[in-house]
Amino acid sequence: MSETTSAPRREQPYDLVVTGVRLVSGDGVATGGLAVSGGRIACLLGPDERPPARRTLDGGGRHLLPGLIDSHVHFRAPGLTHKEDWAHASRAAVAGGITTVIDMPNTVPPLRTGEEAHRKAELIEGASLVDYRFHLGVAGEDPSPLREVGPREATSVKVFLAGHHTAPHVVRDPVQLEKIFRTAAESGLRLLLHAEDDGVFGLLDGWRGEPSGYAEYERHRPRSGAIVAVARVVELVRRHGTSVHVLHASTAEEADLLTAAAYAGLPVTFEVTPHHLSFTAAETCRVGARARLSPALRDAPDQDRLWQAVLGGHAATLGSDHAPHTRAEKLRVPAEAPPGLPGVQEMLPAVHTGLRRRGPQDSPDAQLSCLVRMLAERPAELFGLDERKGRLCAGLDADFVLFDADERWMLEPGTIRSKCGWSAYEGWTMTGRVLHTARRGETVYRLSDDRADAAFGAADGRWLDARRPSDVEPR
Ligand SMILES: [Zn+2]
Repeated sequence: MSETTSAPRREQPYDLVVTGVRLVSGDGVATGGLAVSGGRIACLLGPDERPPARRTLDGGGRHLLPGLIDSHVHFRAPGLTHKEDWAHASRAAVAGGITTVIDMPNTVPPLRTGEEAHRKAELIEGASLVDYRFHLGVAGEDPSPLREVGPREATSVKVFLAGHHTAPHVVRDPVQLEKIFRTAAESGLRLLLHAEDDGVFGLLDGWRGEPSGYAEYERHRPRSGAIVAVARVVELVRRHGTSVHVLHASTAEEADLLTAAAYAGLPVTFEVTPHHLSFTAAETCRVGARARLSPALRDAPDQDRLWQAVLGGHAATLGSDHAPHTRAEKLRVPAEAPPGLPGVQEMLPAVHTGLRRRGPQDSPDAQLSCLVRMLAERPAELFGLDERKGRLCAGLDADFVLFDADERWMLEPGTIRSKCGWSAYEGWTMTGRVLHTARRGETVYRLSDDRADAAFGAADGRWLDARRPSDVEPR
């Protein structure tokens, strides 16, 4: 953690001063506070500094994290707002310590051009508690429109190599896929991959038929589909030099292969989801639809390897893959029930709880530093937001989360903010709780002292500019 600097002498009081906190960065934790002016962090404060301020917040010795970035959400607007909308989803986000999201393009209609991004931003304006950006999708057969995309609109493009009904634009043609990799490399865009092979699944379904129960689900969407696709992605990166971020790695083999590819110097990073860290395929058998996911939940040794990827720094980011569906949709017969679950609210407490459970002797400070790397610093770097977001540093947006790392609480159905109204984590005893979330210095979420209620701030989240990933220093 960088040294806290003394507050410069000034005549005017700061807008907000936060005192009595443990400031968390990816490198460590320091006792102190911070001062906010004009929505940005004016300076970090030493433990005894109390400069004049219009508002103050005493953290009571708890941890202060940078506002977290969830780089993988499906907030469903436009077109699928019967499942979720920005008003609900962004409330779920701030309740989970997330202040910036990057939304996926598989909406109705899908988001595939810079022009559509401007229209989508207009649609969201006034409804979002969080700041936001978008990942674009690929438009039709010809990827050349990607060359026209400016960093205002997007710096990243999602490609589905396998699909379901909410992902209609699966790229199955190897020639087209190759073109996309080449175009993205030439345009300085990062590709995000849903890396499961649709051809593998098609063959298996043709042979075995559709799954008739949840006990068979993993067998119908097995690890071979993910491994085949990731191997192909690594080969395409080798040929074209495209920067890729593989989403929701679910198996030990993927984690090994992607770690090895990065070690060999290829521009490859990957994401792990809280649900693959929290549940295994046994859960899909036990609870059915809520744990039907894509990629499927795997086995305990895979889960162990994913935790190792988190703790060892192999995985770059955690992403919730917040993908709500209505109860009625989830209750369709297994072959037709859409995969996905809400997770933007649950991600921080669920992964923190898992870290505590797996490493009861580990330092709580180190566990929080790990979360800040994966949920703030690395996503800010990968998606060109690090000049504004991702750290508690002077000059950056005053996005922060007051987190009680020791509070134990139960996730009750009444506290679920997603429009879908259910959570796969219902009844979980969590360790670690978000008490207060601020975005650009304004309170957007505050849990009441008696924990019975919560207040939300103004829905004035903004569409953010980004730099091209190619302009971001590699690390
Ligand atoms: Zn997703």
